[in-house]
Amino acid sequence: TLDPVTPTLLPSRRVTRPVQVGAVTIGGNAPVVVQSMINEDTLDTPGAVAAIRALHKAGCELVRVTVPSLAHARALERIRKTLEDTYQPVPLVADVHHDGGPIALEVARHVDKVRINPGLFIFRRARLGDYTAEDIERARAQIREELKPLVDVLGAQDKAMRIGVNHGSLSERMLYTYGDTPEGMVQSAVEFIEICEQMGYHNLVISLKASRVPVMIAVYRLAAKLLDARGMPYPFHLGVTEAGDGEYGRIKSTAGIATLLADGIGDTIRVSLTEDPLKEIPVCYGILQALGLRRTMVEYVACPSCGRTLFNLETVLHRVREATRHLTGLNIAVMGCIVNGPGEMADADYGYVGKTPGTISLYRGREEIKKVPEDRGVEELVDLIKSDGRWVEP
Ligand code: SF4
Repeated sequence: TLDPVTPTLLPSRRVTRPVQVGAVTIGGNAPVVVQSMINEDTLDTPGAVAAIRALHKAGCELVRVTVPSLAHARALERIRKTLEDTYQPVPLVADVHHDGGPIALEVARHVDKVRINPGLFIFRRARLGDYTAEDIERARAQIREELKPLVDVLGAQDKAMRIGVNHGSLSERMLYTYGDTPEGMVQSAVEFIEICEQMGYHNLVISLKASRVPVMIAVYRLAAKLLDARGMPYPFHLGVTEAGDGEYGRIKSTAGIATLLADGIGDTIRVSLTEDPLKEIPVCYGILQALGLRRTMVEYVACPSCGRTLFNLETVLHRVREATRHLTGLNIAVMGCIVNGPGEMADADYGYVGKTPGTISLYRGREEIKKVPEDRGVEELVDLIKSDGRWVEP
């Protein structure tokens, strides 16, 4: 669900054109969409289907698969059909890179969105220094020629395309003209957008990923400015590429994605970790919940503990979370003492607060409801929530 509080606190979201990808909408007024990508070989139908199902069940709303050859593109037909026969339709995106025209054309029949990379979509044979106005027009004519069949197929089925620029794979022509810069990345996207628009096709989502967070932030901000000035209100897919693993991978992804979302920029996100893709999904939802953009879990407020703490905060927070984590929509505070008053609990719906050694107080909002022995604290908290009619069975 959308969080009801945030829209009044953060800059309003960039106005974008809604783009339909299967049953999911990216952009417009739709909630920010969570997506990821499977690691399995697309030719391994049972493996790919199992991975897509697992990701979808974990909350991944859009699943991407890699399509490096025509055989992989054809395999998507089997994968889609197996999903429909044994599970349910899942919005699928095909990732097409090198010399992608024929592959993209085939796979466009079997998926809801095709991602192309402008830097790799067409082999460019021109030498550095060849880029006169005529060379550029010739390159664009070649792009138009290669893109047209794909755009025709996608347009006829009302399917989407992601123009996915990557910092590390800008075309030689863009590098020569703009250098390795945010502007080069944005112009690379703009060139493909213009060509699509000339063909009357607008179901576009744009990404401009980089592995360095400051570059990624700068390029999306520049893109928002330039595209909006040119009347190109296409939604953005945010991500930090090659963010790595573990704690720092999550920090890098969050630093890039959350900074832009807090600016009102971004309509779908992917956290790219060098780990099982299933582990990306909670990070995505955590970012969206922390910013108040979507509410998919309980919001916990807990103090860091200090010398005044009257119980083992880490243990108690863990027990409270285990007992209540399924109660989506509630705010629950766990505080070591009441020294700074109920206001410190950030107006949580319920508070579990140290009172005296061995005793805790339970709060409903700012009102102290009862004092209970610490060893019955979690049980009493659950009873309080039940008596308020806000409990649901896990
Ligand atoms: Fe310390 Fe109390 Fe603040 Fe927790 S709420 S950090 S126990 S003063």
